[in-house]
Amino acid sequence: MTIRVGVNGFGTIGKRVADAVSRQPDLQLIGVAKTRPSFEARRAMDRGFPIFIAGEGSAEKFASAGVPVAGRLADLLTQIDVVVDATPEDIGRENRKIYESAGVRSVFQGGEEADVAEASFNALGNYEACRGKRSLRVVSCNTTGIARAVAVVAPRWGVAHWHVTLVRRATDPGESKKGPVDGIVPALEVPSHHGPDARTIFPGLPIATTAVVVPTTLMHVHVNHVRLERPASSGEMIEAFRTTPRFHLFAPWERVEGTPQVMEFARDRAGRDGRRTPDMMENVLWERGISVEGRDAYFFQAIHQESVVVPENIDAIRAMFNVADGPTSIAMTDRALGLGRSPASAPPRP
Ligand code: NAD
Repeated sequence: MTIRVGVNGFGTIGKRVADAVSRQPDLQLIGVAKTRPSFEARRAMDRGFPIFIAGEGSAEKFASAGVPVAGRLADLLTQIDVVVDATPEDIGRENRKIYESAGVRSVFQGGEEADVAEASFNALGNYEACRGKRSLRVVSCNTTGIARAVAVVAPRWGVAHWHVTLVRRATDPGESKKGPVDGIVPALEVPSHHGPDARTIFPGLPIATTAVVVPTTLMHVHVNHVRLERPASSGEMIEAFRTTPRFHLFAPWERVEGTPQVMEFARDRAGRDGRRTPDMMENVLWERGISVEGRDAYFFQAIHQESVVVPENIDAIRAMFNVADGPTSIAMTDRALGLGRSPASAPPRP
């Protein structure tokens, strides 16, 4: 079965999801919808993705820019089985009615409230519970990062209490209107909304989150303290993260001190092993930054906000159509995107 997919909203997330869809053996990207021509339309044209006009977009503007269009969103919706909505927050909720009346399934993003869809989704966290749904919401980048980590820790050692401070990037690299460009801004909503959001994946999870925003565009960093129900060791926890898909661990010898080197690493590996973009879709952990003392676990993780949700959108589609179980879908997605397990921690022999 080939699932026909459209992507509405071709910005930071939409363009990456469209690219990822086009690389899956069982999915077919029918087109992408944009409100206006922009530099990103070139990417769609270069990749051969048909462009449809979204919202109130003007056909004349596309024509005068020389950007060919294949129709409007309504036309796209007649040709697809599922739409991935990657429009700015709150617009997805407005679009939901259009998708429902067109009879297509829909995947929304984390900027929407949880009730925009039948369920919130994270592939490692709750794939099974999302099978067969007509609409899903892939949780935000931060919640995706948290949910993946919970999926590793909770089944092995239990969670008595989880606290995470989110050190959040100010904005995305392509955005020039947001900040801060200086200073550290605490989110005065305490605890922050990320804890309740994580509970849309793990109901009842004893988690509390706080957040500060800092002037960087590269990645978020999470500072985790987990009180486990059963004691563990640092080595066991390192191994658990290392052997789970969608985690990348850096060994001490790699001298990755922080997010600048992480993203430099991602740029270096782009174009190899099927990885087309300089993105970091995995949760990034440092072996040296994982420390367990009895029931107290401490670890840092970095989250590339622009790409971490991309594989989750692909798995959400397979879950909705019930065409694969979670591990199978994750493996298919990761193979197509070139995501592998973390290499062994020892340096390569000369
Ligand atoms: P973005 O602004 O980069 O892209 C959104 C695109 O949608 C833009 O190209 C915009 O022109 C277009 N658009 C606006 N109105 C539209 C409409 N009515 N119909 C179709 N397209 C329209 O936004 P983004 O960062 O890609 O965010 C999209 C969603 O993904 C949001 O819910 C956001 O919260 C979520 N998300 C963003 C990030 C991130 O770090 N950027 C991470 C995870 C989830």
